[in-house]
Amino acid sequence: LDNYGGSATTYGWASSVLLSSLETNLAGEWLKDYSVDNQLAGTNLAMVNYTLAKFQEFGLEAAYIDQYTAYVSYPLDSSLSLLDNGSAVVYTPALIEDQLDEDPNSSYHVPAFFGYAASGNVTAEYVYCNYGTYEDFQALLQLGVDLKGKIAIARMGAIFRGLKVKFAQELGMSGVLLYTDTGDDGEVVIENGFKPYPHGFARNPSSIQRGSVIFSTAGDPTTPGYAIKPGEKKPRVDPTSVPKIPVLPISYREVTPILEKLSGHGPKIDGWDGRVKGYDYSVGPNANYTLNLYNKQEFNISIMNNIMGKITGLDDSKFILIGNHHDSWTPAAADPHSGSAALLEIIRAFGDLVKSGWQPKISVVFASWDGEEYGLLGSTEYAEYYQYELKRKCVAYINSDVATIGSILTMEASPLLNDLLLETTKELQYPNSTITLYDHFMDKKGGKIGTLGSGSDYTAFLEHLGIPSVDMGFSNNLKNSSVYQYHSLYDSYYWMSKFGDPGFVFHNLMAKYMSLLILHLSDEPVLRLRTNNYAVELQKYYHDLKVPSQWLNQTQVRHCGHTGESFEAVKKHHSLEKLIKKVHKKMQVLDLKTGEYDDYLRELVDLYDHWESLTYWQRIKLHFKTKAANSVLQYFERHFLDHKGLNNRPWFKHVIYASGRYTGYKGQELPGLAEAIEDDNLDDFTERLGKLSEILDTLLRMCSL
Ligand code: GLU
Ligand code: ZN
Ligand code: ZN
Repeated sequence: LDNYGGSATTYGWASSVLLSSLETNLAGEWLKDYSVDNQLAGTNLAMVNYTLAKFQEFGLEAAYIDQYTAYVSYPLDSSLSLLDNGSAVVYTPALIEDQLDEDPNSSYHVPAFFGYAASGNVTAEYVYCNYGTYEDFQALLQLGVDLKGKIAIARMGAIFRGLKVKFAQELGMSGVLLYTDTGDDGEVVIENGFKPYPHGFARNPSSIQRGSVIFSTAGDPTTPGYAIKPGEKKPRVDPTSVPKIPVLPISYREVTPILEKLSGHGPKIDGWDGRVKGYDYSVGPNANYTLNLYNKQEFNISIMNNIMGKITGLDDSKFILIGNHHDSWTPAAADPHSGSAALLEIIRAFGDLVKSGWQPKISVVFASWDGEEYGLLGSTEYAEYYQYELKRKCVAYINSDVATIGSILTMEASPLLNDLLLETTKELQYPNSTITLYDHFMDKKGGKIGTLGSGSDYTAFLEHLGIPSVDMGFSNNLKNSSVYQYHSLYDSYYWMSKFGDPGFVFHNLMAKYMSLLILHLSDEPVLRLRTNNYAVELQKYYHDLKVPSQWLNQTQVRHCGHTGESFEAVKKHHSLEKLIKKVHKKMQVLDLKTGEYDDYLRELVDLYDHWESLTYWQRIKLHFKTKAANSVLQYFERHFLDHKGLNNRPWFKHVIYASGRYTGYKGQELPGLAEAIEDDNLDDFTERLGKLSEILDTLLRMCSL
């Protein structure tokens, strides 16, 4: 019986073993080991071997390096210069961060470049494009600003940087220069008395944000939907999601003389102001000045090294997966090594727990992913390679990445995990206070767990494979906490130990919290997923959809005489309205049914709490009920997959969550329906709503008692 996870949870003593291991806090040591030179995906072999050795040292079984091939780019050369109308060079930025005596990592040489930016050498007038969002470019077009052939200058922020480049390229622009405006650093700016790093909280003026400028986040851009291991035949394809124009990053100090030249030229747009001194945020161009932007990279098929390790459960047909990436652009203490350090702490604690005789009910698999920064490469290739096994066996995926840059717990998750995530915060104290992590989370976030979009390694698991996922970290509020010098040389051990997380207390808290989550998920006989939150959230998303009134019957009936709508069209609108109501009704019933189902699950859990007093036959009965419940829970999310995928993005198969097509990072709820509305595509909307209706039927059948 025990072999089927049929006995009570060992949560009580197991959690105390984990927490007592984590009373020793070694996160800072691992962080120091990790935040060193040479971190680029596919080249960081010392770090890969270090991680493998740690996985082994802490007793994970069969720890190994799981390899995939992926198309990536590495920097060779670059330069930028400002030219006057006689083509004389008037300014040449250095494109590199200042070396700081206080911060040894700042002496590392990491070129300022963007992953996948095309090689090219262009000279052109330039235009300020605000954040480079879809709306920003639309605004420029509406004002009649000629963008063809120009270089776009845009500030970082608002959306994933790769989409800025995509929009610019689609409009025929010849290159892109991206900088960080301190206007986006909230209140933590020099004018408010904050000193720049390393002397204070504010941004160092020479700080440069590197990053990938790929257009879509679906792993290796040459193998969407599948994966190739070394030695297997790799198809040669021209990836469409890789830019064809050159792109460079620059600091706000170095972009200033370039932007200054636009002052007074071209229109000014409300809300486009940042904080660059001496520049009035005119759009330009200024015919007297051009930029020469030169970027050279080598494009290779490289090997991605994921490090994997496992604790085999009593039931090895199910597992949970925990991952964090290990590649980065710079020494990267926060992104990703706050997460890497926390992950090693978790594995160390579980090592102690296994040594004291514990075995999980289901298996626990740990992963340290490569190539996240280029486009979630390592995790996505793994997810694609093992897609059938993962869909069959994987119960949940827990992601961390930037585990700590501040003190505010921030989480995004599949609603199946919300109950676990929230309840577990009650078990931990918040550092240097008398409150619990729960009190903190209620106070700062109102208990709100956000929706997942993209930007880290959970994407393939949730949005391609339908595996319940969560992403979490301690963030900050830009009021009087340190500006995080993301993807710059200053995301360093010194920054972290002095400003990000002095004493590594939030690293430690993250390790404790994730350890308890892993324990709940792997040790409880009834899988710790709960269904009702999904139904509650779904109704909100559905309610927020703005179905155009002309799609609905009432308006049509009133207007059909005038518009000359055919009888067929009226019928179509009428049946859509019926379908909308039907789906709404099904969601309400699902709310009710999942509420009852969760109550039923609680009854089962309660019986396990009285395991000792159950008779043999009661135990057998409970075992079979649990088995049935677990398969409902395990496959609940999988039913949200639609094989068709989203229009133009067929890799995204989850009908409830995807990254926004114009944002890249931010989660879009009910993406297929929302996009059909945006595209004014009634037939597509109706078809997708019909699909959702079928999915709801399946879920209703599953949770009917
Ligand atoms: N975290 C990486 C970034 O934001 C991910 C890139 C991607 O999603 O492709 O740059
Ligand atoms: Zn990261
Ligand atoms: Zn990153």
